[in-house]
Amino acid sequence: MAGQSTDIGTDWAFQRYESVRATLPEASFAAASRRGGDLGDTVGDYDAYILDAFGVLNRGETAIAGAVERMAALRALGKRLVVLTNAASYTRAEVLAKYHRLGFDFDASEVVSSRDVAFAGLPALPAGTCWAAAAAAGDDFSDAPSGAEIAHLAERPELLQSAGGFLLLSSARWSTADTDALTEALMASPRPLVVANPDLVAPREDGLSMEPGLIAQELTERTGQPAAFFGKPFGNAFDAALARLSGIERTRIAMVGDTLHTDVLGGAAAGIGSILITDHGLFKGHDVAPYIEKSAIRPSWIVSTT
Ligand SMILES: [Mg+2]
Repeated sequence: MAGQSTDIGTDWAFQRYESVRATLPEASFAAASRRGGDLGDTVGDYDAYILDAFGVLNRGETAIAGAVERMAALRALGKRLVVLTNAASYTRAEVLAKYHRLGFDFDASEVVSSRDVAFAGLPALPAGTCWAAAAAAGDDFSDAPSGAEIAHLAERPELLQSAGGFLLLSSARWSTADTDALTEALMASPRPLVVANPDLVAPREDGLSMEPGLIAQELTERTGQPAAFFGKPFGNAFDAALARLSGIERTRIAMVGDTLHTDVLGGAAAGIGSILITDHGLFKGHDVAPYIEKSAIRPSWIVSTT
């Protein structure tokens, strides 16, 4: 099952990200990374932080130790904060409620999700057709833009033939058989494919889960048809986050994340600094140096924890 944790590990994820490198933005990187223990060591360099969620603030349904206190300390120093998450399974209100449950005090203006970015950029479909979504059970699409009709593909399999386009929000109910069926449907009748979470994997309490970006990359490789990606590392997500930080120089803003190919690469492509957190996300338990060497994706800072 794509949505469930498997035996895939950091090496597999890193290689898969490198295999799709040509589809990711180009960027130039710091010549060398500074090293620190936590975000507190970086405060001289930045006035604002754009924070990834998984691997920085939380791992699954658990807040990372010290992250709540760190956010309070950064606020006390006058730093501006924005959460930029590739989580597309939930509405922004639900995402916000989750952070509040975990103890964070972010308000709605401080959270940008790739789902919001995708919904803002949805192309128009032919009259009378709807989007067929890979989505979590119970997703009511109440935050969809007006005029966009979205239905659950898992509940209406006939949409493989009749949908005007396909929208990948969540891999929670997706299997390899679904990838096969959608490949066949797109080969028979090419239609827009929109991906609201470009992540290939995500760290959960019990390992890495496969995410919508992985499904989309497989579909484009098999069909030769394009997909429209919304979220990190793409510019559409960083434009939305940076719009919340007007008045601050880009060189004084850092993207904080646990992955090289989404957070660090995306931050560098957007012309802002980047801080890699190594202890909680994709590189938990690994020496990050060889991965940086191989990918040449070099963060401005490498710190152990939030
Ligand atoms: Mg992450």
